[in-house]
Amino acid sequence: MGQITLNQITKSFGDVQVIPPLDLQINDGEFVVFVGPSGCGKSTLLRLIAGLEDTTSGEINIDGRDATEVPPAKRGLAMVFQSYALYPHMSVRKNIAFPLRMAGLDKAAQNAKVEAAAKVLNLTDYLERRPGQLSGGQRQRVAIGRAIVREPAAFLFDEPLSNLDAALRVNMRLEISELHQSLETTMIYVTHDQVEAMTMADKIVVLQAGVIEQVGSPLDLYHTPKNKFVAGFIGSPK
Ligand code: ADP
Ligand code: MG
Repeated sequence: MGQITLNQITKSFGDVQVIPPLDLQINDGEFVVFVGPSGCGKSTLLRLIAGLEDTTSGEINIDGRDATEVPPAKRGLAMVFQSYALYPHMSVRKNIAFPLRMAGLDKAAQNAKVEAAAKVLNLTDYLERRPGQLSGGQRQRVAIGRAIVREPAAFLFDEPLSNLDAALRVNMRLEISELHQSLETTMIYVTHDQVEAMTMADKIVVLQAGVIEQVGSPLDLYHTPKNKFVAGFIGSPK
């Protein structure tokens, strides 16, 4: 599970079309990075997949069903934001358990899942703290934990590391890559950072003004960029 197909999707805000007709295939278990300059439509594309925005036209298919009419909570996807979006008055445990409590799981089942996620994320010793008592990296881990307990078909990350300092960013990059290897779940990761794209992706989608310039592995893009924009953006010598 975690196969996502975008079929001729478009998005306009008023009269402005920010995503012209766009096709994309994301395979089960892939780590796909959307990369491109600020304003090129990365977040919009992610929000369309998540169902946080409605497409203007076209079809989004998730695991064989048309998701266009499926509300965000029912799409089986979990979004992780750069702002963390944690509840400051709740403990880490309660923050991570939040989607499980909403789903009506009993306390014991909630705790089992929260503790398993905390173990993966090195948060076991921090479960009774509040977000304000954590570092930026730990807060980001809590946000990821809240996604993990939902056991989504895919994780959607929107620039999750952009609030962290450079050293921490390198660490978290590795942690997210390791998480992907252990969970084997589809991850879609939005960034404007070429290094993140090149080091984390199985497949990179290079966007410019809502248009996919090229899709390929990091090596493909580096060695055979389709045009100057891709070459310049990826930092290829060509
Ligand atoms: P990125 O994430 O790549 O920086 P966005 O997806 O946020 O880009 O934005 C793509 C384009 O769509 C930008 O021109 C932005 O101004 C516009 N846009 C995004 N959201 C809205 C909105 N809610 N209303 C109007 N325009 C929007
Ligand atoms: Mg964005």
